[in-house]
Amino acid sequence: MIIPDYSVKFEALPCYNPELKNVVVLATGGTIAGSGEAHKTLNYEPGSLPIEHLLDSVPHLNEIANCSGLQISNLCSADITGSHWLILATIINDLAQREDVHGFVITHGTDTLDETSYFLNLVVKTDKPVIITGSMRPATAISADGPLNLFQSVALAANPEAIGQGVMVVFAEGIYSGRDVQKVNTFKANAFDERDFGCLGYMRDHQAFFYTRSLKKHTTDAQFDISQISELPTVSVAYFHVDADPGILDYLATISKGIIIAGAGGGIYSKPWIDRVRALKNNNIPVVRCSRISSGITLKDAYIDLSANSIPCNSLVPQKARILLSLALTQTTEYHEIAAMFNEY
Ligand code: ASP
Repeated sequence: MIIPDYSVKFEALPCYNPELKNVVVLATGGTIAGSGEAHKTLNYEPGSLPIEHLLDSVPHLNEIANCSGLQISNLCSADITGSHWLILATIINDLAQREDVHGFVITHGTDTLDETSYFLNLVVKTDKPVIITGSMRPATAISADGPLNLFQSVALAANPEAIGQGVMVVFAEGIYSGRDVQKVNTFKANAFDERDFGCLGYMRDHQAFFYTRSLKKHTTDAQFDISQISELPTVSVAYFHVDADPGILDYLATISKGIIIAGAGGGIYSKPWIDRVRALKNNNIPVVRCSRISSGITLKDAYIDLSANSIPCNSLVPQKARILLSLALTQTTEYHEIAAMFNEY
């Protein structure tokens, strides 16, 4: 993990307007930094434009906050890795200690933005606002949505009402929790939602209107500490379907410290899979049961054989359960301790 040197850049934050909050914008790439054929929404290259371009493209940004940009990467978010997450969290945890930094915005590709937001929600150690955003249309498209998303994210990062609410996502005038946000559409500009839970609130221009809160533990209340970690334990996801070969679990066990099963219905799978999961437990490889259905809850009280050898994910989707299990494995492999975490986070 190589952390970009930001010490010189942030030695003294630019204080353009002492009346405004100072917001650090960390850019990772995605469609918001995408460039392609003029006015088109297809056939572009995500992660092409630098942070300076993104900040310059938002009119009146300097009227809502003093922004300083830092380029972490410039990638399609399919290429974001656990190392990028550790770099982001380390930089945020470091800069958050400074009194002259009031909030953070991360620009990110939309395809894995839900995963990055949950990881940071569990490991950043600050009450200061951390807001993630992106766009569905590249910067060169007609009606590009990036500038408004970035404007509203900076506004929320500078808003005292956002303090202590955990990592949040601002997208298409909605505010979502880092835990529950999910991409729900492959191309529309209003591409994010919180499944059963709606949203935390709305943005109108620079104003925030909050209506609900996430009750699950996050940020300063979370028990995870990445300060001594340079690599996250590998956790893999197996997708169950009719006739699914249980051999996939044997293979995943050779490369993983834990396994998530995206099961059918309330997180169930076939008898051959149940037998393999029992063997995995005996080999000290925890298995967490999730559902391939995108709403509802997965509980302990399913069929007896299932419940005995696996941990129910509660309401996390498989890609988020994978993050929690990986962080849990930095502390324990005990089933009951991991199960407690799946209820708390
Ligand atoms: N493939 C892009 C990414 O995730 C999609 C986007 O940003 O909307 O980086």
